[in-house]
Amino acid sequence: MYDVVIIGGGPAGLTAALYNARARLKVLVLEKTKLGGQIVSTHEIANFPGSIKGTDKETSGPELIVRMADQVREFGAEIEIGKEVTQLDLAGKVKKITCKDGTTYETHALICANGAYPREIGCAGERELRGKGVSYCATCDGAFFEDLEVFVIGGGNSAVEEAMFITSFARKVTIIQNLSDLTADAIAVEQARSNDKIDYIFNSVVESIEGDGMVEAMTIKNTETGETTRFEADEEDGLFGIFVFIGTVPNTNLYEGVLPLNEYGYLLTDEAMCTEVPGVFAAGDIRPKVLRQVVTATGDGAIAAFSAQKYVERMKREAT
Ligand SMILES: Cc1cc2nc3c(=O)[nH]c(=O)nc-3n(C[C@H](O)[C@H](O)[C@H](O)COP(=O)(O)OP(=O)(O)OC[C@H]3O[C@@H](n4cnc5c(N)ncnc54)[C@H](O)[C@@H]3O)c2cc1C
Repeated sequence: MYDVVIIGGGPAGLTAALYNARARLKVLVLEKTKLGGQIVSTHEIANFPGSIKGTDKETSGPELIVRMADQVREFGAEIEIGKEVTQLDLAGKVKKITCKDGTTYETHALICANGAYPREIGCAGERELRGKGVSYCATCDGAFFEDLEVFVIGGGNSAVEEAMFITSFARKVTIIQNLSDLTADAIAVEQARSNDKIDYIFNSVVESIEGDGMVEAMTIKNTETGETTRFEADEEDGLFGIFVFIGTVPNTNLYEGVLPLNEYGYLLTDEAMCTEVPGVFAAGDIRPKVLRQVVTATGDGAIAAFSAQKYVERMKREAT
């Protein structure tokens, strides 16, 4: 019987584990693949306080996660890798958590920190060139495209706002949108339209991305005429960037019909990270939020752990 079980070994889950383990609670983290979540897919962590690029104080995603996990284990939390949670029974005071391999755990409190993943275009070459010109995070990777050409895929708020952000680095940014116009809100559209570094291609989707090590070419298709156009990197540049902002997908299949989700599938909580079910909390990218970064995920993790701690203490007091 655990005090707190945490689903997900990303920044939110590991931070929650740290806080709960330091409070001397019996804590277990269940991670389905490898520790670290999305941040292990990037070498340089941008916007992480205290990580200074190009110095011995720079932290990579994998390094940060190794340190976070060591710290969590030092305070006595257990971490189990290869444990995909597939079933939940949250009806009683004791919550039952079952993994794909059949193992079942019991706990007073549960923290859901399953995270999210950026929606992919789904075209040829996208996966192979991810991190090699194909990016899903302008805050993280925009600066790598200083004075280069960049294509932004998508036309909603994220795409338009990120396109504007990328213009502070890139020579030119072209927004490629599958619809006939942008779908971002009026202010964002107005600002983008007055930025002369931004160009637009509408009614078009990316068919394939090519490159030998880095993105060098891309083919797009006009959805109205069926016409295809191939873009090649400027000879002097040798590469260009493709930033994809067509939404994120939360890892919330597990919670469908179990916990309230919003219209986009994100797990709803209040400000204290409490879900509608007493003793069940959520943290990180799995929640609706305006900025999905390590600092916001870890902030959520700390608050969820604090709320879980108070809940467990109350349960134990009531039981005696
Ligand atoms: C390419 C890329 C680069 C980024 N760069 C930066 C950056 O430079 N700076 C920054 O601040 N942010 C960056 N981010 C964003 C940052 O990584 C995320 O905001 C952060 O990782 C969210 O943490 P999380 O713990 O909420 O979720 P995640 O990191 O998504 O972790 C969730 C974990 O839960 C596990 N899990 C899911 N379902 C289950 C289940 N059923 N059972 C068990 N385990 C499960 C997953 O395997 C995963 O390990 C980047 C994101 C990407 C994709």
